Amino acid sequence: MFAEVIVDIAHTAVDRRFTYRIPDDLPVTQGHHVFVPFGQGDHMKEGFVVALKHTSDYPEIKDIARIIEPYPVLLQEQIALAEWMKDAYHCLFVDALRLMIPAQLRGMRIKEKKVRTVALADGVDPEAALTALEKAPVQKRILEIIARIGAEASVPDLNRFCPGCTPAVNALIKKGFLTEQSETVFRRPAKYRIHTPDYALTDAQSIAADAVKAAVEAGQGNVLLLHGVTGSGKTEVYLHAIADCLALGKQAIVLVPEISLTPQTVGRFTDRFGERIAVLHSHLSAGERFDEWRRIRLGLADIVIGARSAVFAPVERLGLIIIDEEHESSYQSESQPPYLATEIAAKRVKALGGALLLGSATPSLLSYSRALSGKYTLLTLPDRIAGRPLPTVETVNMRDELLMGNNSIFSDKLTERLSECIAVGQQAMLFINRRGYATFVSCRSCGYVLKCDNCDISMTYHKSELRTRCHYCGATKPLPKECPNCKKPFIKQFGVGTEQVEEAVHRLFPSVRTLRMDTDTMREKGSYEKLLSAFHRGDAQVLIGTQMIAKGHDFPNVTLVGIVAADTTLNLPDYRSPERTFQLLTQVAGRAGRDNLPGRVVLQTYEPNHPIIRFAKAQDYVGFYHYEIMERKKLLYPPFSLFLRIVFTDRDENKAEQGCLEYAKTLEAVLKETLGDEGEQDLLLLVAAQAPIARISGYSRYQIVIKLLRTRRLPAAVKAITSFHDLHRDKCGEVRLEINPQEMF
Ligand code: ADP
Ligand code: ZN
Repeated sequence: MFAEVIVDIAHTAVDRRFTYRIPDDLPVTQGHHVFVPFGQGDHMKEGFVVALKHTSDYPEIKDIARIIEPYPVLLQEQIALAEWMKDAYHCLFVDALRLMIPAQLRGMRIKEKKVRTVALADGVDPEAALTALEKAPVQKRILEIIARIGAEASVPDLNRFCPGCTPAVNALIKKGFLTEQSETVFRRPAKYRIHTPDYALTDAQSIAADAVKAAVEAGQGNVLLLHGVTGSGKTEVYLHAIADCLALGKQAIVLVPEISLTPQTVGRFTDRFGERIAVLHSHLSAGERFDEWRRIRLGLADIVIGARSAVFAPVERLGLIIIDEEHESSYQSESQPPYLATEIAAKRVKALGGALLLGSATPSLLSYSRALSGKYTLLTLPDRIAGRPLPTVETVNMRDELLMGNNSIFSDKLTERLSECIAVGQQAMLFINRRGYATFVSCRSCGYVLKCDNCDISMTYHKSELRTRCHYCGATKPLPKECPNCKKPFIKQFGVGTEQVEEAVHRLFPSVRTLRMDTDTMREKGSYEKLLSAFHRGDAQVLIGTQMIAKGHDFPNVTLVGIVAADTTLNLPDYRSPERTFQLLTQVAGRAGRDNLPGRVVLQTYEPNHPIIRFAKAQDYVGFYHYEIMERKKLLYPPFSLFLRIVFTDRDENKAEQGCLEYAKTLEAVLKETLGDEGEQDLLLLVAAQAPIARISGYSRYQIVIKLLRTRRLPAAVKAITSFHDLHRDKCGEVRLEINPQEMF
């Protein structure tokens, strides 16, 4: 027999299958992690067996040296998935395979943990043995413990009862009273249980849970979208769907955004399902990560909870994948390969015969349009649990505040609501969106936002250049001295930070205690959980934070949410900004009034009449959806088109520029030929220019941005671009191709 091996070296030149002979005494199968002699000098390299075959044409074939892990580390389905990813994401086969296993497995950086266990030897009578040990009190005590347990005990455990007893244990083994074994143990992350009652589902919840159950039974790879307002009990639907899935003898994967992977979330699942849960996230130690992965691979866990990369968990009897907050951008990987967890999940449930459940209060436009077109099954939870109302949202026009002479961060309304909330001893959250800090340019008097003439995208202020720039086409404009619209001198770059907000609260309410949560205060490991539980306990009355406070938290005493500046993300230079802003505002507003106390939201904005702000105020997802999808259609933005970008970086600015321009010229010709006369219109945009961030760490950057209409010719056009890229990338320094790039900077 022969094996096709992908050698674990990430390089285009060796990213193909190499054939090796399988020695007769090696039980190699597909998926094994092996050592093979490689290259001149036959250095030992790690590799993955991706296929077996009976014959080989090569005359000089080397043997596989040895197997690393006794079981195949890759499932057949994972190998097929990696092969698909190679084409879909234009990555190396080995890069895709590496996602399927814990990093620690490679290079054998981590080993199984073994402990010695001891038990009473066969035929030993405890009574007689104890008498014989009168003169050795420690040995006697150990034997007593083991006799009492009536089972084997681990040596570390015995040491806990009886510190320093290892020599005594050894003596007992020598005397033949005990026998020893070594046993593998799994390093497990600490488990919390957060008790939630096993509620009887509401009618809407039952309908949703039944639909999921039917889809799991059918095992056709169906996708369901659960659209439920904040606090509508989506998590309870997940818990029931998982229980149904387990009852059918199948396994489940639950993905949550990394930021929601708090002990609270995991604790709710652990409380219901106990030991059958494995957790995968970035805060585990290397040993825990490796062992949780092995528990899954060896079939000791039935439910996997984790962040994005847990979508690759080696689950064989996969019945259900749940993706909570499916609209979150953290499901999109930003490193190589740039996979989308939702897409991988859909592939896996199809291949393994399961179902995919996407859940959100604000589904992505793409998912919702698929649900409306019947591609996905739409399930709805239109109301909060127990008839609790959604919070009331009041918008404040910050332009009016300015006219009235209030140029502080808080409007009169927000100050008033804040003092009411504080007076009755309830809690408030103040949300500030730092991503938009001091980037866009707008007029404080009339609300005018400086936009690009070609793209209908707001211009970004570049402090270093003292100019504004369009991040889509690269056009620049000077920072105007007066507002082009109202001619007043109030136009300037815009933005407020969390620290300023905290100061303002202290000025208004000197005795009120606050907590601040942003990337600056969250550097230390575990600080996120610490801060959240401090707020939960009521250590502070006001929590100030960025995006981090928007997600999934359930604070029963929070009755007020203040959104300090709702427009900041609205005007980011990205066609996804309206969608992201609506999602963010709805999620933040959803933090208010989740328990028995009704909630209020004060939304401060310079554009109260902007449709997105109006939909957010009404918390009207469906209205938002229909509006925004029309906007995308008008401007031919995705999903009606596809963006691609090719980034050139070089220490030598001229080289980057030359490479970019030449590449663009040839590529344009190739693309036009591929599209033909009939498809001429499909190429909506192809511009080669300096990247908006012109230099990063001393490297100059140029980029080509391509926008293609989504027609039946699109796959051929993309293929033409990727093939062209493969042929040309080595000719012009560092070049990266991105399909559907997440950023255009
Ligand atoms: P979502 O995930 O949609 O924001 P949750 O699942 O967190 O909502 O539910 C909101 C609250 O309602 C939680 O405190 C939860 O325990 C409670 N809850 C969920 N389902 C029920 C039910 N059927 N009956 C009573 N309470 C419920
Ligand atoms: Zn532009």
